Amino acid sequence: MADYIYTMEIRLTPDQLKGVNLVQEVARTAGVTLYLTGGAIRDIISGFTIRDLDFTVQGNPLKLQKDFERAGAQLAGHDDDVRTLFLVLPGNVRAEIGMAHTEIYEKVGKPPAVAPASIQEDLRRRDFTVNAMALSLNEGSRGLLLDPFNGVADIEAKVLRVLHNYSFVEDPSRLIRATRFAARFHWPMEERTQQRYDSAKENKYIEHISKSAVGHEIAQLAHEDDPLNVVRALEKEDFLKVLHPHWTTAKVDTNGLTQLMKTRQQIVDLGYTVDPSAAVMHFLTAHLPEKDIADIRKQIPRKDLIEAWRDIEEHAKELAKRLLGKEAATPSRTWNLLSSARPEMVLFLAVTARQQSVAHKIKNFFTKWRDVQKRLPLPEMTELLITPQLPEYPKLARDVFMLLLDGKLRSHTETLKFLKPFAPPPPPPPPPPRRGRGPKAAAAPAPPAAEVAGKPLKGKGKNPAAAPPAPIPPLPAPAKNAKPEANPKPDSKAKPKPKVAAKPSKHAKSSAAEHPAKKPALHKSPGKKSKKR
Ligand code: ATP
Repeated sequence: MADYIYTMEIRLTPDQLKGVNLVQEVARTAGVTLYLTGGAIRDIISGFTIRDLDFTVQGNPLKLQKDFERAGAQLAGHDDDVRTLFLVLPGNVRAEIGMAHTEIYEKVGKPPAVAPASIQEDLRRRDFTVNAMALSLNEGSRGLLLDPFNGVADIEAKVLRVLHNYSFVEDPSRLIRATRFAARFHWPMEERTQQRYDSAKENKYIEHISKSAVGHEIAQLAHEDDPLNVVRALEKEDFLKVLHPHWTTAKVDTNGLTQLMKTRQQIVDLGYTVDPSAAVMHFLTAHLPEKDIADIRKQIPRKDLIEAWRDIEEHAKELAKRLLGKEAATPSRTWNLLSSARPEMVLFLAVTARQQSVAHKIKNFFTKWRDVQKRLPLPEMTELLITPQLPEYPKLARDVFMLLLDGKLRSHTETLKFLKPFAPPPPPPPPPPRRGRGPKAAAAPAPPAAEVAGKPLKGKGKNPAAAPPAPIPPLPAPAKNAKPEANPKPDSKAKPKPKVAAKPSKHAKSSAAEHPAKKPALHKSPGKKSKKR
């Protein structure tokens, strides 16, 4: 039997996984039954990007709002009709917590009667088989997959299948959803689903779409990996104008959008998490008049997206201004400024900057300056025992990086000269082996003298195999929502502290004595295994 918890754990990002744990903990404490549902399950199983987390609880999640906020979630909106909370979990993870419910459609074009229900009943009101699965996150049944419509089989077959014949009649927004998913996954509709889809289109059921569904579907566009492809598919089916009568692909800034998605991928490849949704909306509606844009915004249920989209140009302008000012007078200061800016803003500005020098600085930030890291003399640093085990290592590595960026350390020799005084003293030699006390002690090879003294072995080359190169010091993590430092400056005046080099610090002593495992690999005596090799 498939282990879906394991699959979930390896497929979610670390932040998403933390988000699952957060929601699980709140639900457990409140005593409500919780399931991961919908698109999240589909994407976990199919291997597509997991864009957001959809949870369903048996109970009213609106009552848990304060609990979620106390646990670190931010409220981004709510839908009182279907009792859904829209949250942003730490790490910018989007989540929806919905109430398990039934939807009874009595009349075409009229909203359904909503009633609380069990998870099994809730799955029956969903749009497609691949979206009608739930994974239990409850004690006793954690990991159990509820898949009453064989969604897993349809994921394997790569088809979209509605749950019953009236699906598009009951909720015509499913026509838009079918088009969107088909364009995104390149999965066709199963034959009968396609027939129902064609007939619903012919009968113009889409005219009965609810306002809230329109808002929901607009917001979903912002999170597509290839929004242009989806918008084109919607236009081809005559559904784009359903989202707004004046919206056509001619109103999209296609160049801007293409550039945005390309730059976004480059930034993601560098290890940043960046949410391009506000920028996507900006480019998707770039050539629409302000009034139409305002109308579109009003329909979106998540206020975080509305605000980010509304403010994006203003915030980018502010960042551009700072990049032109004193705060970014040197490469290191620019580095600090851009590292502490929100990645979303840097991304948007990278694509829209009008001033050449701004564009140039951002380009350097993502390309040239990163290569400067490679100039840190890692093998020599390891020999000098300047390794990540040292408490002062992160600051030292950062200072060297900043000085290299600013051209204040111009050569390998200069860099080593700067670093040497920071080398900690070698650890004290181990007590001499007691000879003649049992066969084992006598047989154990004595460590070579030079190694004991903490120096590289002569004749073994500069970089002994026993010493793995120290990892490249991490670049400053992009701090989301963090305000840049008022005066970010490298510690260029950081004077080498001869004290550190001359005398083992208290800390160095105690950590060497108390945590022998933490000693640099250079000092490990060669064990039997490595000898054999
Ligand atoms: P995406 O990857 O676009 O976020 P998703 O499937 O998660 O896809 P959401 O709009 O977030 O889409 O909806 C979450 C889940 O709620 C869906 O997977 C589906 O089970 C259900 N759902 C959403 N809209 C409808 C609808 N109109 N009719 C039936 N079920 C729906």
